[in-house]
Amino acid sequence: MEAPGTDASARPGNMQDVNWRDFRDHIATADKDGRRRWLYPKAPSGVWHRRRAWFASFLILLMFAGPWIRIQGNPLLLFNLVERRFSILGQIFWPQDSVVFAVAMLVFISGIVVFTVAFGRLWCGWACPQTVMMEMVFRKVEYLIDGDVAAQRALAAAPWTAAKVFRRLFKHGVFFGLSFIVGNTLLAYIIGSEQLLAIQFDDPRKHWAGLTAMTLFSLLFYAIFARFREQACTFICPYGRFQSALLDENSMVVAYDRRRGEKRAPLHRDQGHEARKSSALGDCVDCRQCVAVCPTGIDIRDGTQMECVNCTACIDACDAIMHKVGRPSGLIRFASQNHLERGEPQRFTRRMAMYSAVLAALVGVFLWLVLSRSPVETTFLRVSGSLYQMLPDGRIRNLFSVKMINKSHQPLPVEVRLENRAGSVRMMGATNPVVPVGQYLQTSALVDLTPDQLTGSTTELKLGVYSGGRLLERVETQFSGPRSETPKSNP
Ligand code: SF4
Ligand code: SF4
Repeated sequence: MEAPGTDASARPGNMQDVNWRDFRDHIATADKDGRRRWLYPKAPSGVWHRRRAWFASFLILLMFAGPWIRIQGNPLLLFNLVERRFSILGQIFWPQDSVVFAVAMLVFISGIVVFTVAFGRLWCGWACPQTVMMEMVFRKVEYLIDGDVAAQRALAAAPWTAAKVFRRLFKHGVFFGLSFIVGNTLLAYIIGSEQLLAIQFDDPRKHWAGLTAMTLFSLLFYAIFARFREQACTFICPYGRFQSALLDENSMVVAYDRRRGEKRAPLHRDQGHEARKSSALGDCVDCRQCVAVCPTGIDIRDGTQMECVNCTACIDACDAIMHKVGRPSGLIRFASQNHLERGEPQRFTRRMAMYSAVLAALVGVFLWLVLSRSPVETTFLRVSGSLYQMLPDGRIRNLFSVKMINKSHQPLPVEVRLENRAGSVRMMGATNPVVPVGQYLQTSALVDLTPDQLTGSTTELKLGVYSGGRLLERVETQFSGPRSETPKSNP
């Protein structure tokens, strides 16, 4: 019996041929009892795969080279959570730059939203590090060692002979080696490449924490790429789950052209196109090659599904079949639902325009924040709990604690000047201390004012931070003094 409300006329266009009795009762990678069904996807080949392989090679190169590339001495990318130091495209960011981070995160999320609305889950199949490493590195190694699907299935079913044990040990040894490299690369993004080298080559007793992280990361990636595989995309990654809220009938996705493909039926020997047409048969010869290559085990003919990562392997597989049976390619292709069902051209919709405008605004704010960032960030605060000091000549003195962060690419000799009052600022230690690149300087400063400069028990001070005579930033702070009988207003 059909579920209520699921009569054929009520189903979405490309879902009308699905067997609704059991469709989605269980996912493609689990059997009816919920046990894992191990996938053996056929090795993909074709135009789309070649494009993807080139793009993945570029991304893999970038991913592994990232921690070692320097821009003006700073890492291309660094997310040092331990020291709370971050570098993006060679620009050093500190926790104080949280606004920049928040906006960068919004740009990233909005970029994915806009991209998904327009192009579906292209990110997943083409740029996500998990898919890129799984399909373009680990899967390829598996094909090299175990062979294609038939050989893999045969090996899995074979008894545990010495040859099988050796082959399995060899493959998993290579997998662990690759996972070690991936884990070390992630660690280099977190702690920096110099720290990573220190962990690798220093006395191990000095780096217990680093070595533990290295081992855990390697084991984690080994578990993901050797065992968990596509389950990471289906169960853990939230992106696949919220894509249904983002996609609409104008989004470009990998889709099956059911108007052209149905009614599907195997091709009989000597059955020409005209004979199929007169039997009301479509172009799909039901060869299931699109399913055989799918790394998530789904049948794209059932419509857009959460598991589909838009890897385009099924496009190549189907195009090869169409070529063999003498039909035009593109039975499975990148297309919108509106295009497939109503023949409408791909449109830049109002929804896409709105999301793009939000993204453009956020990118503008992000660029403004980055470009207008002062090369030095100063905090100038009265030492907590300290009182003012009366000097013998009548002046009043406050002790301040000073912290300066150098976000530029060169050491900065700095000088602090009082901007809104007559008085003096004296840095403890050197008069013009030098803030090292990418680090901070912590010191103290004495500020002296004459009583006529005070506006009350607290007086607002404006200070300028200069380097080589150039004003880098202005900071404000409060000066404490005795209560004045005739308070003066701030200039
Ligand atoms: S349905 Fe096609 S595009 Fe989607 S994951 Fe499977 S092979 Fe890739
Ligand atoms: S590969 Fe093409 S022809 Fe074969 S089953 Fe899939 S859609 Fe049909």
